[in-house]
Amino acid sequence: MKPGRAATFGKSAAQFLVGCLRQIVPAKQGTDANAADLLEAVKQWQQVFEHTPVMYFMVDPAGTVINVNTFGAEQLGYTPAELIGRSVLDVFLAEDRAAVRACVALCLKTLDQSHTWEIRKVRKDGSMLWVRENAKAMLRANGGPIVLVACENITERKEAENALRQSEAYLAQAQELSHTGSFGWKAATREITWSKETYRIFECEEGTKPAIPFMLQRIHPEDRLAVQQTTGRAAREGKDYDHEYRLVMPDGSIKYVRAVARATRDASGRVEFVGSVTDITATKEAERRLRDSEQRFRDYAETASDWFWETGPDHRVTQISEHSDTNTAPAGLIGLTRWDIAPDAALEPEKWRQHRAALDAHVPFRDLVYRSKDRNGQPIYVRTSGKPFFDADGAFLGYRGVCTDVTAAIRANQAEDALRKAQAELAHVTRVTTLGELTASIAHEINQPLAAVIANADACLAWLQRSPPDLKAARRSVEWIIEDGRRAGDVIRHVRALAKRSDIEMVPLDANAVVREAVALVQREMASHAVSVRMELSSALPRIFGDRIQLQQVLINLIMNGIEAMADVHDRPRELAIRSQASGDSAMQVSVSDCGTGISEQAIDRLFTPFFTTKSSGMGMGLSICRSIIEAHGGRLSAIPNQERGATFQITLPLHREEAS
Ligand code: ADP
Repeated sequence: MKPGRAATFGKSAAQFLVGCLRQIVPAKQGTDANAADLLEAVKQWQQVFEHTPVMYFMVDPAGTVINVNTFGAEQLGYTPAELIGRSVLDVFLAEDRAAVRACVALCLKTLDQSHTWEIRKVRKDGSMLWVRENAKAMLRANGGPIVLVACENITERKEAENALRQSEAYLAQAQELSHTGSFGWKAATREITWSKETYRIFECEEGTKPAIPFMLQRIHPEDRLAVQQTTGRAAREGKDYDHEYRLVMPDGSIKYVRAVARATRDASGRVEFVGSVTDITATKEAERRLRDSEQRFRDYAETASDWFWETGPDHRVTQISEHSDTNTAPAGLIGLTRWDIAPDAALEPEKWRQHRAALDAHVPFRDLVYRSKDRNGQPIYVRTSGKPFFDADGAFLGYRGVCTDVTAAIRANQAEDALRKAQAELAHVTRVTTLGELTASIAHEINQPLAAVIANADACLAWLQRSPPDLKAARRSVEWIIEDGRRAGDVIRHVRALAKRSDIEMVPLDANAVVREAVALVQREMASHAVSVRMELSSALPRIFGDRIQLQQVLINLIMNGIEAMADVHDRPRELAIRSQASGDSAMQVSVSDCGTGISEQAIDRLFTPFFTTKSSGMGMGLSICRSIIEAHGGRLSAIPNQERGATFQITLPLHREEAS
């Protein structure tokens, strides 16, 4: 700013005007009455100029403020002196300054023409106001142009406009989010207005005038009549309406909408509606899916052989699934507890006590098996599982669960148990029978040590009768007596164990030891039939897991069969080979081979069938019992004809799990 100018314009606008006047009116006419009137008029105008609630600016072509009224300066937080001489751009936002320059330029180009615009101004404290500016450029007396600007503060209006715009934007957004559009419908004039979202719902280009024919065309043909009737009646009677219908979209898809409208009347009493239209396709879809899944579960429930139940907080049955199989689910249970109907309630108090404790603790339960009756009163076994259910506040409402008729499975188990018992019984009987056949062998096994005992006792006496008695030799004889006595005792114990009906006792066993003990019992039998035995037992075999007595029974049976198969052999040595060996990593084999009659083609498939025998005094039970014993051990028993003569019976047994590699 030039200092000279500051001296001229640094004062208030009033002083400036007075200054100008003095230039026009020469000093010598200062006392002239006209001049005095003029000055008075100027002063009055000056007052108006200063205090009229409009902001006035005078700006030179470079944009420098030449003058501003007090009101205008105060609106911006300045005194006039602070603004005069500054660039007018200082009271605009940086981003608006180019526009301001353009406006000033336009005014200068179009002298004496008014231009109006709305723009923001910045106060001294940085706050903002909106103004509506009316500007015009004119030539001053000295010929230079100035721009006169009158501004009106429109901040409040702008804020209201903005708030309205914002709330409209919020509304549009809310409509979009809730898939709800709004509409207005003047029934008399058929005039319809739609919100943006309504256009979107109807898939109609925004801005086109909504019309009833278009809407009817969008509505599903099956729903059209109902829509026309509802809206027609509402229009006639001036009543609210609320209805749902379908739209067929241009791509052929179906949209479900719900329209709700409130009837009002305009100033001249004509009916008009304001309403909302909501796209409820997703809700309808969800409802349909729910209905489908409910139906699906009902189908499952009704076709399953299981049935579903529900009990209340007192554990009494409230519901039982409808069943297509009318025989299964028991009838007449509603209102009863499970233990009311179970005939085993009194027999198994502990089972029911535990079950009721679980129910009272509101915990799930699994696989409770109890006795009940079917619809025809027939006893059945039922297996049930259930879980508690609660309301939204966590209050216990009861249990829901499923029941299965397990009668067949339980009867099968019982039959299997009975069969197992009968087999064990039979095995015992045949064992005792075999022992009867082995009497000679057993007697021999016992006689041998007894004879040795007598011989050693005699010897002992002789040693004692010597003079002096040979105590050392006598002691040795007594030691032998003890040893033989033990041997005889062992044999008797073993025979008793075989004869006793004892429970099966599965323990880890050394298979070779089992073989040796069995062979010991039939030693004499072999000798009396001139049969020699060859043992090829693999050392260091891992142990098996089984019942010693039963496995020995199998071996004795196979050995006895081998001896019998060689009874008619006269042209060659009767030799029995007993072998043990590993079979893979997890099993071992014991085989008994003879060189007897061998097995015929017809016989091979039937050997293990009960009562199959080719012997006049045979029972035909031995091999079938042997096979069931071996299978109960998880193994296999098979018969293989030898290449040359005789047959081999092979036992394969799994190794004890802890020893299998
Ligand atoms: P049994 O010895 O009472 O006949 P088994 O079930 O032990 O009953 O045997 C059934 C049949 O299998 C025998 O009658 C016999 O024909 C045949 N058999 C069993 N072992 C042999 C063998 N080692 N060699 C040939 N045939 C055998």
